[in-house]
Amino acid sequence: MTPEKLAFENKKLEKRLCREVGRAIVDYNMIEEGDRVMVCLSGGKDSYGLLDILMKLQKRAPVNFELIAVNLDQKQPGFPDHILPEYLSRLGIKYHIETQDTYSIVKEKIEPGKTMCSLCSRLRRGILYRVARELGCTKIALGHHRDDMLQTLFLNMFFGGKLKGMPAKLVSDNGEFMVIRPLAYVPEKDLIRWAEARQFPIIPCTLCGSQENLQRKQVGNLLRDWDKQFPGRLENMLHALQHVVPSHLMDRSLYPFQTLKTTGAPVEDGDLAFDEEPLEAPPRVADEDADEGNAPVPRTVIPIAATT
Ligand code: SF4
Repeated sequence: MTPEKLAFENKKLEKRLCREVGRAIVDYNMIEEGDRVMVCLSGGKDSYGLLDILMKLQKRAPVNFELIAVNLDQKQPGFPDHILPEYLSRLGIKYHIETQDTYSIVKEKIEPGKTMCSLCSRLRRGILYRVARELGCTKIALGHHRDDMLQTLFLNMFFGGKLKGMPAKLVSDNGEFMVIRPLAYVPEKDLIRWAEARQFPIIPCTLCGSQENLQRKQVGNLLRDWDKQFPGRLENMLHALQHVVPSHLMDRSLYPFQTLKTTGAPVEDGDLAFDEEPLEAPPRVADEDADEGNAPVPRTVIPIAATT
């Protein structure tokens, strides 16, 4: 690819990322006037991408909000603790590095060979809540993306027996903070490309030596294969998460199956008996069209993501 073509492609990607993050922020009212948003930065491609795009949107957003990047140095062996402070200082953004040796605690408490992740993430959550409190943050932004959310949906279905994904916005379990995931609409492949384009100083995520979550890995591979074989399928699945039809599921707490009565009048979304449900592809904003300014009318108005 010529340098000119690469620059053009990267510009298109930047516009798409800004648009999708802006759309998620508006759709879920993630950021409001006066918010102080703690952006959790691990040193991985997703959290770098999150901070980068939020900083771009902050400049053109119709509301004023503050960003504070926070990294938790868990004292994993070999963690290069100079990388993030140097990077964040160059950006000129407010940041805080919290150093807590959770690695030793986890190593001490968990038998060798057993997975350390649940204790590690519980400790991390508690520390991040305390830091958010001390910094006076109102929102906690995490770098989970569309593919993480779909993976979680499948993991919960396959292994947890629940139709439950990962929320775009939810109150933290201690009730104190609003947790937001502004990358909810962003495919992982775009974040991989953006990390390359921006040359983020990625810190490897294998320093703790924990085994990978095999179930999550399998589901991730399944989704990636589908995405290659059937382009648009993951986008449709994300759309499905936003268009739930309780009458066509089986949760009695969501729909009054037991007290249901016939009315004699046609019912929208009523049962079609033996007929197949018609499958209509959800509306889609074509990237190429959007970049040329010929995009179909988007599903929401996105003032925050207007591109310059
Ligand atoms: S992969 Fe390592 S750092 Fe991440 S949650 Fe598991 S134990 Fe903790």
